[in-house]
Amino acid sequence: MLRIAAGRVYDPANGIAGEVRDVCVQDGKIVTDVPGHARRIDARGMVVMPGGVDIHAHIAGPKVNAARKLAPEEPYGGIVPSTFATGHRYALLGYTTVVEAATPPLAARHTLSEIRDTPVIDAAFLVLMGNNLPLFELIRSEPARVREAIAWYLQATGGYGVKLVNPGGVEMWKRGNGNVTSLDDEGPGVTPRQVIETIATAVHELGLPHPVHVHCNNLGVSGNWRTTLDTLRTLEGRRAHLAHLQFHAYGGRLGGRPRSKAPELAEYLNAHAELSADVGQVMFGPAMTMTADAPVSAVLRDITHGRWVNADTEAETGCGIVPFTYRERNYVHALQWGIGLELFLLSRDPWRLVLSTDHPNGGSFLSYPRLIRLLMDREFRNEQIGRVNRKAMKRTVLLDDLDREYTLEEIAIITRAGPARLLGLRDKGHLGVGADADITIYDDDRDDREAMFAAPRYVIKDGRPVVEDGELREAGAGRLLRVGAEYDPSIEPTLEKLFEDRYSVQFASYPVREPWLLEPAHTVAAEPR
Ligand SMILES: [Zn+2]
Repeated sequence: MLRIAAGRVYDPANGIAGEVRDVCVQDGKIVTDVPGHARRIDARGMVVMPGGVDIHAHIAGPKVNAARKLAPEEPYGGIVPSTFATGHRYALLGYTTVVEAATPPLAARHTLSEIRDTPVIDAAFLVLMGNNLPLFELIRSEPARVREAIAWYLQATGGYGVKLVNPGGVEMWKRGNGNVTSLDDEGPGVTPRQVIETIATAVHELGLPHPVHVHCNNLGVSGNWRTTLDTLRTLEGRRAHLAHLQFHAYGGRLGGRPRSKAPELAEYLNAHAELSADVGQVMFGPAMTMTADAPVSAVLRDITHGRWVNADTEAETGCGIVPFTYRERNYVHALQWGIGLELFLLSRDPWRLVLSTDHPNGGSFLSYPRLIRLLMDREFRNEQIGRVNRKAMKRTVLLDDLDREYTLEEIAIITRAGPARLLGLRDKGHLGVGADADITIYDDDRDDREAMFAAPRYVIKDGRPVVEDGELREAGAGRLLRVGAEYDPSIEPTLEKLFEDRYSVQFASYPVREPWLLEPAHTVAAEPR
């Protein structure tokens, strides 16, 4: 039992914005009151928020592990930390829930093993389905059954939601047919538009807690904002989440210098309540690009002329990894940084445009505190804007000295309440009675919000203090968050036949059946429509 006494509480999901009040905890949950003898944390002068929720990061699975091998000199504090360090570092930052954003179903065992090995944080993973050959065949021949197949894949893997990465485009590239230029390209027998429409509809009908999570075609390419808009229009009327919108917000001619189209995309998002996005902010310094979008990695490799991992997952996806450094003086890097900030500053609904760096693609999650300061502190932001490539800044609205400063309430929305709501995690991201007792307590440092968010005083996970006075005290295991979705078993013989023609793995040994890999788990049920 625990009483967090007299802190300034930010709990936007329950309409609480800086009220001084107590937060009480019993048996890992938030309760209305605890007896007088309960342990007491004096939070006077401190800021109390729900534990952070990261909606999109890359922390577990084969590609993360391959990236670790590319940077073996930095196992603990580097850009791709070990499983152990990942859990500790997130906890020390006040984050208690993280979503691994891209796992091929065939690699689910690996991802589950690493999630199990990652201490403290609860974790979920999204399953890649945008370049899956059995699904392509169903999309062509029996689109109405795609929904059953998706539910089957989710149950077979222990996954939480559905991710599309360059839908149709990775398979097209694997076949040597180049890159997608429009959503109507007839690459691998289905068009990107067919993949997006059919799968988004299936996810919607299944009533999964998190809508389809889309990494659009043409990531990083000048002029790609048209593809992004076309994707959004294709999705219209269904809920959808766009990953790392910054990387998809470029104007300019194909092959030419990119321009910012952040204002146009921010406006579209503002006007469509069913759509959401995370930003994928670029932060200057070292990064590690890792993506199922293998064609993008091939392009990056041509830019860096450095190390490159390219991997194939049979019948499901590609994968590429390239170490990368973002530099302030570089026009393109500075523009990417500027576009991310524009999206944040032009967004009118913090519940639907949430914080990410696409860790470690745009930068490490360890840079979140600096990003928060950029959003909260106009003077600091303008000082930084003054240091970066001038030509790039002239292509953005940032030189207009936007006066917006995020409030603590808005930060609480974009780092915990918003992501939890978008993920459909009802027990996360808020401090109402019955919520998981994941709580972060900060010193209220008005002069330096970066220092404040970099070192919370206390972090409580499931009611247990895991960080006290800024130090890690206890590091128990986190839980796997998975979805419960029912399917018609008649889909199994259909899938088995599709598997036999395409996989080297037998259908019977494909699903994860090792119970220890799926425990301890918390299942969030789908609500079919
Ligand atoms: Zn990502």
